[in-house]
This record gives sequence, structure tokens and C-alpha cells, in this order.
Amino acid sequence: MIKKNNVSFFQVAQGVWGMKLTFVNIYMIANRRGVAKGWVLVDTGPKHSADKIIAMAEALFGVGTRPSAIVLTHGHSDHTGSLEDLLKHWKVPVYAHKLEIPYLTGRASYPPPDPTVGGGVMSLFSVLFSRKPVDIKGKIKEIDTDEGIPELPEWKVIETPGHSPGHISLFLPLNTTLIAGDAFSTTKPESAIYVLNYIKKISGPPMYFTPDWPSAKRSVETLANLQPRIAAPGHGPVMRGRELQLALADLTENFDEKSVPDSGRYVGDPARYDENGLVYVPPFKVNHKFLAIAAVTGLAVGLIATAGAKKLFN
Ligand SMILES: [Zn+2]
Ligand SMILES: [Zn+2]
Repeated sequence: MIKKNNVSFFQVAQGVWGMKLTFVNIYMIANRRGVAKGWVLVDTGPKHSADKIIAMAEALFGVGTRPSAIVLTHGHSDHTGSLEDLLKHWKVPVYAHKLEIPYLTGRASYPPPDPTVGGGVMSLFSVLFSRKPVDIKGKIKEIDTDEGIPELPEWKVIETPGHSPGHISLFLPLNTTLIAGDAFSTTKPESAIYVLNYIKKISGPPMYFTPDWPSAKRSVETLANLQPRIAAPGHGPVMRGRELQLALADLTENFDEKSVPDSGRYVGDPARYDENGLVYVPPFKVNHKFLAIAAVTGLAVGLIATAGAKKLFN
């Protein structure tokens, strides 16, 4: 852990650093000298994180620094919450996949989360996550998935849909470092205990917010085939080496049993999208297990936490 400028962050690999903001990670990638100038910010964390992100950037790259671009793995509010604040400070281009752009230009909202998937209290809270589309029209650039991102010439863009339609991961072949986004997690994103304490456990994408499981499974297989030696996810600590290799093998082999919820709105009935946004959302189904868990977890906890969680997620 590195502590500087009143913020704590960590090194992922040479030229790559990350910071945990409540329950989401952001990353900074510095290009090797002579390759391309400067550094790039990957994702922007939940709301109210801009000051911390700027402090981390200045600790690494000097006072007054700014990235040459911001890259979004996807547009969910826990990864774009501070985007508009950062863009007031840094006038830089923002890259996203074509299929995420409707949710970043005010045109469409993501499909609703599924609080019935179980796994912990974060699933229940998912209904509080903001689905309001961010609107950064005029600043967004579509990623050319073949050519990659000009500001990150050594990194490959890997399309990893499922958790969201245009989800991407970033891969550096040079030392097989992977920035996975939410294609998989290294903690249990549904469990507040795991998430807040950063407890390590390989898992699929956050269950409550994944509306297309067949695509999510293929995406995990794509990433496992890259055989990364370092994986830095959106949720959970960095995983490396043999531990990562075994964890990814286990995740791909047992994806249906371990990562896909037993039941849920999108299980067996994925949402569908096109370049303008959502085309089909399956109907909401309440199951008995969900009702029991929701009752036990209690509206008591819900009511106390709602005020705090609303601040965090919106
Ligand atoms: Zn997400
Ligand atoms: Zn996320």
C-alpha cells in the first residue's frame, strides 16, 4: 500500500496502479517512455471520488497533472460516478465501447438490477444503484476494438460483454496484466462483508447487475484463455500468478454452478440490446427465497442503510 497526499493506493504492475474507492477500484496506467506520452485513467469510481482520484494522480505524476484520456470498462454508476466531476477538472477524451455509448449520452438506461439473485445484502441494495444515464455527449469517443486506444498503444482492448452490453477489459501482452473491469471479480460482490473488507474470492461478475449470463460466461473464458499473470478487477483485490491461474480455471470450469444465480430475472432469459440501448427486458419474477431473505435481512437494516447507501450509489 502506498500512502501519499492523504490517499492510499496500490501498485498492480510496473506502470499500473489502483485505488479502492469504497467498493470499486479505479486504475491508472502510465505508458512506457517513448511509446505514447502520459497516463490514462481507467474508470472513475462512485460519486464523490474525484478529489481522491486527483490526489492519487498528483502523488504519482506531479501537481497539475492530467491524464491523456479516461477509459471506461463500462458505464455502470459505480464506475462512472465521478466522471462528470473529473471532466470539469480535466478536459480529456473519454473512451467507451459503442454499445455502452447510449448509457453515457443520456439516451438509454441499463436494465434494472435483480435483487432476487441472493448472495448478500449488496444484491438487495442494488435497487438503490443509480441507473440514470450519464450524459457526456461531445466528450465520448467510440473505442475501435481492432485498433485499440491510441493513448494506450501497448494495451489490447478485449470485448467482454454480459455484465453490460459493451463491457471491455484491457490486456497488456508484454507482462500479461489484465484490467478485467466487472467481467469477473476477486471478491463476492453480492456480500457487503466481502466487498467492504476486500476478502479475496474469485467470482463471476456482480450477479445483481448482470443481465446476460451466456455472454458473461464466454467473456470469462476469453479472459482465462489470455492466461494473465496479474488480474486487476473492478471489485476485489489484485490476484496474481499461480493463485490467479487456478482461480480462473476453477471459475471457467464451474461458471454455471458458482457464478450464475440459481434463479433470477435474467437467468435463462437474457436482456437484449442494440446500438440505441435496450431492446428486451424479461419480466420481474419474485421467488420465495428472495422474499425470505429480504424479510430476514429486514427492512430494519434497509431503512437505516438506505439514506447512506443512496448517497453512495447515486
Ligand atoms: Zn458493473
Ligand atoms: Zn462494478
